[in-house]
Amino acid sequence: MALIPSPAARYITVHHTQRLSSSLHRVYFRPEDCSGLSAEHHGAHIKLFFPDQISHRPLLPSRNAQGKIIWPEGKKPVTRTYTVRQFLAEEQLLAIDFVLHPTFGIAADWARHAQPGHVLGLAGPGGQARFHPNAEYWILVGDLSALAMIAATLEQLPTDAKGQVWLEINAPHEQIDLLHPTGVEVHWQITNADFNEKIKTSLQQLNWDTQQISVTLAGENARVIALRKIFRQQYHVPKSYLYAVPYWKQGETEENYHQQRHHVMDTDD
Ligand SMILES: Cc1cc2nc3c(=O)[nH]c(=O)nc-3n(C[C@H](O)[C@H](O)[C@H](O)COP(=O)(O)OP(=O)(O)OC[C@H]3O[C@@H](n4cnc5c(N)ncnc54)[C@H](O)[C@@H]3O)c2cc1C
Repeated sequence: MALIPSPAARYITVHHTQRLSSSLHRVYFRPEDCSGLSAEHHGAHIKLFFPDQISHRPLLPSRNAQGKIIWPEGKKPVTRTYTVRQFLAEEQLLAIDFVLHPTFGIAADWARHAQPGHVLGLAGPGGQARFHPNAEYWILVGDLSALAMIAATLEQLPTDAKGQVWLEINAPHEQIDLLHPTGVEVHWQITNADFNEKIKTSLQQLNWDTQQISVTLAGENARVIALRKIFRQQYHVPKSYLYAVPYWKQGETEENYHQQRHHVMDTDD
């Protein structure tokens, strides 16, 4: 899968915020430099750099002559991975949807208190393809952390696309309106032990022998690993038709989990 080149790091400043639900907060940023940002990047991932105090500017990295990333005084700021929900080119605004999860997290807490004028650092967008554009059927599964990616993907599918989306939420009021092709069914599910079983039952109705099926899985680590096993071992989905990325791990901060995520992504089952 092609990699999208990552442009240099830059500052982004909060322009305004919008509460999408009790658990999801959209922040519109104005980037100091909009190069490398376009509608093509909706759903792509970015790195955000956080300041040590909300009113400060975070540090930004630079590259040395050998292309190695260098941090001022060797200090790397708190870094988190997020998704470009939308880039509004005319207004020069970048929308990022933050989950306001109940456990304390530096990023979620920052978003909860974000005010116009607050500044973050941004690197990207980049990352692997999140769906196969030439498939005949699309399956997307995720939780709130993956909602921005899934919402953007639904807007990028062909208008006559067929498929199914499974979104795991904690309560009915976390459901938001999504634009999607009419042939794509959207299932909102309150989180419970039956989530994988419901998906498995639905998969039995599909014709896996004659259709090219693209599968996108994102969300909590254990969920992604369990579902990936089903698609790889039971339905033999080729890796080129599968995006399976754990976006977070219960009980682990991004610092602790980052390396493990890459290990999970590199394994083949
Ligand atoms: C490619 C990619 C794209 C992503 N896009 C988005 C996005 O658009 N929006 C978004 O909100 N997140 C997104 N994430 C997930 C986000 O990076 C993590 O949730 C991150 O851990 C949040 O940082 P934090 O500082 O709030 O919490 P951390 O300090 O990393 O973690 C603190 C605690 O909170 C828990 N926690 C972290 N995230 C969640 C969660 N979502 N729900 C419940 N508990 C949690 C952890 O298990 C830990 O116990 C993405 C991740 C990846 C890899």
